[in-house]
Amino acid sequence: MSIAYDYSQEKTSLVSRSAEKLLLIDGQRVASLSGRTFNTLNPATEQVLATISEGNADDVDRAVAAARRAFDGPWRTMRASERGQILLRLVELMKQHADEIAELESLDAGKPIAGVLRQDLPAAIDTLTYYAGWADKIHGEVVPTRDEALTYTLREPVGVVAAIVPWNFPLMIGMWKLAPALACGCTVVMKPAELTSLSALRIAELALEAGLPPGVFNIVTGPGRVVGDALVNHPDVDKVTFTGSPGVGRGILRGAAGNFKRVSLELGGKSANVIFEDADIDAATKAAASGIFFNAGQVCSAGSRVLAHEAVYDEVVERLTARANAIRIGNPQDRATVMGPVISEKQMKSILDYVDIGQKEGALLTTGGERIGTRGYFISPAVFANVKHEMRISQEEIFGPVVSVIKFKDEADALRIANGTAYSLAAGVWSHDMGRVQRFAKKARAGTVWINTYGYTDVRLPWGGERDSGFGREHGSAAIENFTEPKAVWMNLNV
Ligand code: NAD
Repeated sequence: MSIAYDYSQEKTSLVSRSAEKLLLIDGQRVASLSGRTFNTLNPATEQVLATISEGNADDVDRAVAAARRAFDGPWRTMRASERGQILLRLVELMKQHADEIAELESLDAGKPIAGVLRQDLPAAIDTLTYYAGWADKIHGEVVPTRDEALTYTLREPVGVVAAIVPWNFPLMIGMWKLAPALACGCTVVMKPAELTSLSALRIAELALEAGLPPGVFNIVTGPGRVVGDALVNHPDVDKVTFTGSPGVGRGILRGAAGNFKRVSLELGGKSANVIFEDADIDAATKAAASGIFFNAGQVCSAGSRVLAHEAVYDEVVERLTARANAIRIGNPQDRATVMGPVISEKQMKSILDYVDIGQKEGALLTTGGERIGTRGYFISPAVFANVKHEMRISQEEIFGPVVSVIKFKDEADALRIANGTAYSLAAGVWSHDMGRVQRFAKKARAGTVWINTYGYTDVRLPWGGERDSGFGREHGSAAIENFTEPKAVWMNLNV
C-alpha cells in the first residue's frame, strides 16, 4: 500500500531552516546558554523542518526569574480589564495569522490541515477569547461572619506557572493552559513537547506584538527529562500544569513535592464507546470511527475500545472496517486528507508493536495496522475484532489508529467492561433508551460522558479524569480556581 504524496511539492516555506528557533525569555528571543540545538522533523517526510535551541536547567532558571519579576511587577498589578484587552489583541493577531499558524501546526505535528482549521485553531482561539473575558470577572466575595467585622475573600493568582505540553494538540492544549493562567494574573514558563515546539514559539511572538509585557510568557524548548524536570523541581515555580503520559505524571507529582507546588495532571485514556442494540448503528459507527481515527488516534479521549452489544457486534465490526478502509490518508497539507502520519518513528514502532501483541493475544485484525510506504510515519487504520477485555490491547493506551471491538451481553456487562481499566477520562454511549443512557452516564467512571455523540470538547465544560487519567479539571471556572488561591480577610470594625 502506498499513499498519494508528491514530495516535490513539499511545503516548508513557513519554516526557515537556516534560522535557529530561539528560546523566549523575558521578552527576548535568546539562544540556550549551552549553545546546543535539536532538530524538529516533519513526520510526513522525515525531513528536518527547523533547528531549535535546546534549553537546560540554567535556561529554566533565567525563565523562571523573568516570570517572577513579571509576576511581581507589571502583570499582577495591571488592571484586570487591561490584561483582558491584551489577550483579546492576541486573539485578533491569531485570527489574522490563522492560515500561517495552521500550516505550521500541520507541518510540525503531521496533522491534516483541514482538521487544524476546523478544530485545533478555532478551539485555541475560542479558549483565549473565553478566558480574556474572565480576566476582569475573577471576584472574591463578602462573607458575613459577625457584626463587629467585615469579612471577605480575595482570589489571588498563584504565581509562576510551569506549563508542560504534549505533542498531540500542541496549539490547543498549550492554550488550555496559557489562557486561564494569564487571565488570572499568573506568569508562565511553557515547555512544549520537543517534537512540536513551533506553534508555541510563533504564538509567543504574536503575544509580544499584542503587548504582553516581557517575562509574562516564556518558552524554554528542549527535552522533557531536562527542561521539564528542571521546571518541576524549581523552588520558585508555584504550579505545574501538565498534559502527557501517566508515567511522566507520576514523576511530576514526586518532583513537585519539594516546595509543595500545586499540580494538575491530564493524562491518558482508554475510553469506551458503548453501542447498544437499539442504537442508530450507522451514526454510532460513523462517530466511533472518527472517535478513534481522528488525529491518527493520538487523542487522550480516543474511543479506543468500541463495546458492541452481541446482537449488533458483527455489523459494528463490518461497518468500522469499511470506514477504516475509506479513510483518505496522505499529505497533511492537502485539504482533502483526513489522516496524516503519526508523530514519530518511536510512536509508529510502538503502535505496530501493539498490532503484533493483539494478534498474538488472539484478536482478529480485520484491516490495517501496517506501515504505509517507507517515508513518513504513516500507518493504516486498524480494527481488531474478537477482543477480550483482559487483553493488553484492551487495557493499555496505544495512542494510535487502532480500535479494539469488544462484545457485551447486557447493560451490567457493558458497564463492567467500560469501567474496567486504570483510566477514567471519557466514555460514550449509544442507545435510544433514555433511562439506560442516563444510568450509564451516572455510573461511568469518566470525566466526560457523550450520549449519542462522541468526542466533543468545549472550553466552557470541565475536562479531565481520575486515576491514571490524572486529576484536576481544565476549562470553565475550574481552570480559574486552578490558577488562583482564595484569601480570607478580617477587618475589625470597632477600632
Ligand atoms: P509525555 O508524557 O511523554 O510528554 C508530555 C510532555 O512532558 C512533553 O512536553 C515532554 O517533553 C514532557 N516531559 C517528558 N519527560 C518529562 C519529565 N521527566 N519531567 C517533566 N516533563 C517531562 O507524553 P506525550 O507522549 O507527549 O503525549 C502523549 C500522552 O499524553 C498520552 O498518554 C496521552 O493520553 C496524554 N494526553 C492526555 C490528554 C488529556 O487531556 N488528558 C491530552 C493529550 C494527551
